[in-house]
Amino acid sequence: MSAIAENLARIRSEIGQNVTLVAVSKFKSPEQILEAYHAGHRDFGENRVQELVEKAEKLPKDIRWHMIGHLQTNKVKYITPFIHLIHSIDSEKLLTEVQKQALRANRSIDILLQVFIADEPTKFGLDDNECLQLAEKIHQGLYPNVRLRGLMGMATNTDDASKIESEFRHLKSVYDQLCSTFPTMPIDTLSMGMSGDYPIALRCGSNMIRVGSAIFGAR
Ligand SMILES: *Cc1c(COP(=O)(O)O)cnc(C)c1O
Repeated sequence: MSAIAENLARIRSEIGQNVTLVAVSKFKSPEQILEAYHAGHRDFGENRVQELVEKAEKLPKDIRWHMIGHLQTNKVKYITPFIHLIHSIDSEKLLTEVQKQALRANRSIDILLQVFIADEPTKFGLDDNECLQLAEKIHQGLYPNVRLRGLMGMATNTDDASKIESEFRHLKSVYDQLCSTFPTMPIDTLSMGMSGDYPIALRCGSNMIRVGSAIFGAR
């Protein structure tokens, strides 16, 4: 077995059936992605539009591509024809553009709202109230080609496990609030946890983790 296949098998066995593992393949070559693909993996995440589009063109069409990085409105149109899930909706302006391009592509697009939970000023995301307000607008039917599936968040990059845990617990509480406020919406996805913190995220209720270096090796 290749190292990539071994890493995937180990992580899959740790996380169980009900958690989706998104293999974060940014900076990785198509050959490395194919190694994971041939080990049966289908969900891959990228954080830059150009790299995502180039890889999607080259690689097998049954790959489910996840956009996990900050998305500029002028680039939305390049991914809307094929993207499986956009994790990084962090403004109403971006949501409006995704609706417009989804309509043009004649499809419905699954999205997550990215919530700001870290205490690092550089990370993108909505605050709790903005998140609930956008969900309310989607619920009212203002974005008919967008399906809200849940939330995504990134914890502070720190060795302090208790701090990470309290940030993830906070995101889980916003997620629970979303589920109970909008019981008729198809909300079922809480994307939190990366290579360094996914065991904590899973304890806090994550059901989708985004893992790069623990699968493909450090950059
Ligand atoms: C790079 C990245 C990851 C994966 O990070 P690793 O530490 O390599 O697992 C997860 N989520 C986002 C948004 C990323 O940009």
